[in-house]
Order: sequence, then C-alpha cells, then structure tokens
Amino acid sequence: MSNWNHEKSAELYGITNWGSGFFHINSQGHVHVTPGGLNNGPSLDLYELTQDLLDRGIRVPIMVRFPDIIKSRVELLHSCFQKAFGEYGYKGQYCGVYPIKVNQQKHLVQELVRFGKDLKLGLECGSKPELLVVLALMNSEDAVIICNGFKDVEYIETAILSQKLGRRTIIVVDRKEELSLIINAAKKFNTRPKIGFRAKLSTQGAGKWVDSSGARSKFGLTTVEIVEGIEILKKENMLDCLELLHFHIGSQVPSIQSIKSSLKEGARFYCELHAMGAGLKYIDVGGGLGVDYDGTGQGDSSINYNEQEYANDVVSTLQALCDEKGIPHPSIVTESGRALVAHHSVLIFNILGVNNLHKPEPPRPATKKDPNIMQDLQYIYEKINKDNINECFNDLTQAKQETLQLFTYGVLSLEQRAWCESMYFAIATKMLSIAKATPDTEEISTVLRQELCDTYYCNFSVFQSVPDSWAVGQLFPVMPIHRLSEEPVREGTLADLTCDSDGKIEKFIDSRTGKFKDTLQIHDIREGEQYYLGVFLTGAYQEILGDLHNLFGDTDAVHVSINEAGYTIDHYVPGDTVTEVLSYVQYGRHEMVDNVRMATEDGIQKNTITKQEAKLLIKHYEEGLSGYTYLEEPEL
Ligand SMILES: *Cc1c(COP(=O)(O)O)cnc(C)c1O
Repeated sequence: MSNWNHEKSAELYGITNWGSGFFHINSQGHVHVTPGGLNNGPSLDLYELTQDLLDRGIRVPIMVRFPDIIKSRVELLHSCFQKAFGEYGYKGQYCGVYPIKVNQQKHLVQELVRFGKDLKLGLECGSKPELLVVLALMNSEDAVIICNGFKDVEYIETAILSQKLGRRTIIVVDRKEELSLIINAAKKFNTRPKIGFRAKLSTQGAGKWVDSSGARSKFGLTTVEIVEGIEILKKENMLDCLELLHFHIGSQVPSIQSIKSSLKEGARFYCELHAMGAGLKYIDVGGGLGVDYDGTGQGDSSINYNEQEYANDVVSTLQALCDEKGIPHPSIVTESGRALVAHHSVLIFNILGVNNLHKPEPPRPATKKDPNIMQDLQYIYEKINKDNINECFNDLTQAKQETLQLFTYGVLSLEQRAWCESMYFAIATKMLSIAKATPDTEEISTVLRQELCDTYYCNFSVFQSVPDSWAVGQLFPVMPIHRLSEEPVREGTLADLTCDSDGKIEKFIDSRTGKFKDTLQIHDIREGEQYYLGVFLTGAYQEILGDLHNLFGDTDAVHVSINEAGYTIDHYVPGDTVTEVLSYVQYGRHEMVDNVRMATEDGIQKNTITKQEAKLLIKHYEEGLSGYTYLEEPEL
C-alpha cells in the first residue's frame, strides 16, 4: 500500500501504451488529457473536469469529447503522408476522407470539416441519408466527396447534381447495376460524372472484419464486372469519367502484412485500368487503419504497425508499381474513420455499489448440535495452513456441493444453508491469503480469485455506450480516473444497469503479459464518496451502434476545448429523457400521465390512496418522464 504511486498505476493500466500521448496520469493520481499529444500544448485534469461538469448539473454517465484530439489525429495522418511523399519522391496528392458512418454527430462532423479545411479533408457517405448530411456540411471545392453504399436513382441524381454546385462528388460503383443508373443520370443532366469502381479484392483483411473483402463480400465488382464496366463506358464514350479505383478490406486491420498484400493487388487493378484507357486520377485505399485499443501490439484489438508505417507502405507500394509501368502517381484517398475519431471521447461513469464476497470474519462457530456439514466447514476453517492447503481446497470444493444437495433434499434449513455459504466465503478468503504466501498454489489462487471476485455495479449501459464490447468482444481500456496514487487492492468485474446478463465487462488489458485478464484491479469504494471510472477510446462506431436496451438512452455529452487559460465547453448535448426514449417505442407522455391520473382518482374514490399520496405519485411520475434514463443523485 505504502510504496504505490501514480507511475505504478500507469504501468498497471497500460495507459502509456494505449493513450497515444493523449492520456496519462498526473502526480495527484488523476487521469490527465493532453489533446495535442504528449507534452504538446495545454492539458487538463479529467477528474477535476468531471467535478466541474457535475457542478454545472451535467449528469453521469457523461460522454466527454475532445475535438482537439480529432484535430491532432487529422494532422497526424496528413503529416505521415506528406513525410512519406517526401521520402519516396511521390508526386500525387493526399486526399484524406472521413467516412461519417463512424460517428455522424453533427458537432463532430462540423469540427472535422473545420479542422480539415486547409488539409482538404473530404467526407465519405455510405447511404442516401449520409449523402444529405455531407451536402449540408461540406462547402469546399477542393475536397472530395465519396459516395459508397447501396444506391437508387435519387441517391445518384442527388450526387450528380451536387457537382453543379461545385462539389467534387465521386460516385463509386459498388454493384454493377449502379453503372447504368449513373450513365442515365449523366445524360439527363448533361454532365460528365466522376465515377469510381470498387474492386472486390481476393486479398483478405484480418481481424474481426475480415469478411469485408474476398469474392463473397457484399460490395465491389468482380474482375469480370470491371471488364464489362469498362466496355460499357467505352461504348458511351465515358472512359475519361472513370477517375477513381476503390477497395476496402475491412475495419481495424491488425496486421500490416494484410494491408500490404491488399495494396499490391489494388495497385495492380489501378495499373490495368489505366492501361485500358480509364481516366484514373485517384486510388482510394479505403479504411482499415487500426487503433491500438489495448496497447499490446498484438491481437485483434491492437495493431502491429503505426500511422507512419501505414503511410509509408501505401506510398511505396503505389510508387514502385506506377514507376515500373510508367504511369503518373495517382492522388491517394484514404477513408480512415476509426483512426481519426476513436481517441477523442471518454465515457465517465460512477460506481453504484459493490458485491463484495470477501469475508474476513467467519459466522458464529458451529456446535455439536449443528449438522455435520457445518462442523466439517468449521473444522476446515480452523485447521487450514500452508502445508494442508491442497487437501483443504479439495474438502472445501466437496463441502460446497454437499451443502447444495443437502438443502435440495430438505436436510438443511435456509438459515443453515446461509451459515454454510458465509463460512464458505470466510474459508475462501483465508485460503486465498495463505495461498498468496505459499509457492506452487497458482491454480488454487486462480480459482479462489474468480470465486471471490467483486462485482462493481456501474451507472451505464454496455449496449448503449460500448456495444462492440458485447457484440464483437472488442476490448476498450477501462480504468479509474482518480485515486491512482493509491494501490487498487481489489479485483473486480463490471456489471452495467441493464437486466441482461451480457451487460458486463469481463475482459481487461493485462499490460504485464500483453494478453487479457478476467478481472480489473480496482479500489475499495469509500462510504460517502463517489468513485469514477472511464472507458476510453470510444469515439468510433459506439455512439451510433448503441441501442436502447432496457430503455437506457443517449448519455449527456459535452465537447470540451482546452486552451492555455483552462477549458471551454463548446457544446452540451443533453442525453435522452425518459419521455424521448419512450416515444421511440410509441408511448405518448400525455396518455401515460392521464392513465396514471385516472388510476389515482379511482384509488381516491375507493380510499386506497390519500389525495396527498396521489399528488406525490403524479409528481414522481412526471418528473421521472422528464428525467435522465440513468440513475441520478438526489438533488441536495
Ligand atoms: C466503414 C468503412 C470505412 C471506415 O473504416 P475504418 O476502419 O473506420 O477506417 C471506410 N470505407 C468503407 C467503404 C467503409 O465501409
């Protein structure tokens, strides 16, 4: 306890590895945020910020967004490509594009457009509604708009007409049927459309989204369809309109080797199409640039490369092939989404309580009058020491099963069973502390630690705020945001507010081994004091994939800019009220209040409720409907 410090916490939680320089721990033992990256510009104490936000009446769980981190990420990716261009003598341009599906929040996309203006950052849309968003937000003539996804006539005509507003809109043919729709629309409006082909690569990505490429992938043209497409464009005298070649091998690609192989295949497509007379100017290498969620450099939640290595590989592969064929270097479009926005948001929530199974004190001693099983347990408790620990462990396991059987057969009463369970946990607690000090007891310790592991009840919903943790087993860094100068002496797992047994987090970073562990080292909670945890790197995909399981809605969200003088709250986006969430499932507030009011009138008539009680019930009911869907602290 005594020689613990914030540096040990940093090591334990691996924050230096996954924090990318944005997050670290300060000497007060609080998480600290530096949006410009390590030692770069102003910074802020996340715990103090949380206190300030709560003082303003903003409620936990809070999604805190740092737009300055997005700015750093946009600039980082741009500068990596510029550096690679310099190094390899590449002559094309870099055109970064943000796919809005990754996080479509208005303020966030607006900020991206603002930060990206000088760097010509474009936007990508994957559906008609997303195109409508993009057209409302993009006003740059220099940046490209990439249209992907399933398209109907309306989508395509809107995209083509936007060219007449000076937008550089490129329509990517994802399915062969779309080509004729584009050609018809171009004739109708007398324009030369900018067309892209998405190629189905046979190179597969890797990791959780491996099915995004290969012959059975949902999108893209096969080689046969590409050759037919070229014929059609040639016949229409529109080969010059085919400006872009696109491919995308999936998200969060963990290995640089998969990226390299897909690039080689994609670059070959580019050269062939060029040779066939297409007016190609751009190669769009898609998304997939990963985020190091656990900081281990291995496994699906991590990546074995960095942004600069990614840029170097894209640029050098293209350059080598184009130079070999004597083709001008194309402009490079990337559709990295996750890598731009994952880091910028943190979900902060409080702990509501702990199910603590550690039992330092045994129950009252068993006597001769008690059933044998109770006397056996009493005996184990008294006798256990480091020499007989194996034997005692086996006896304890046996006694646990026996207790249950005896209760089921009606031999033990409920009170006796309760005594046995209390004693079981008292023995397990004592046994674990002996095992810790005894060599060769790893196996026993592991089992007991699991048995005695605490459950921390958390004020958030996994399904709303980190759905990928549940859906695809994605790991997110989770840790306390304060008390980090103190040793976290407990082991716990996290359970959310939903009634779903899947609503939990039971997989944590083990920075020591680079693998996962089943429990999180965590502090004791103190009476009368709040304890706050953060889930980090939640900026990509989570918000929009989040659902209303058990009717827990959007959390409060704030956009915080940090400057030398402190910080400013640029936007406060209140979370859903209960009324709003209910309206998504067709419940109307007035009708609900009316029904309950009528029931109280009935109760008043029948004298089952007083007028005062009825008034209070209606008040609670109406306030509940206007309130937050998460647990709230009573107003002081
Ligand atoms: C989802 C998607 C992206 C974004 O991928 P990230 O891994 O988030 O960078 C890019 N392009 C296409 C076509 C996509 O479907």
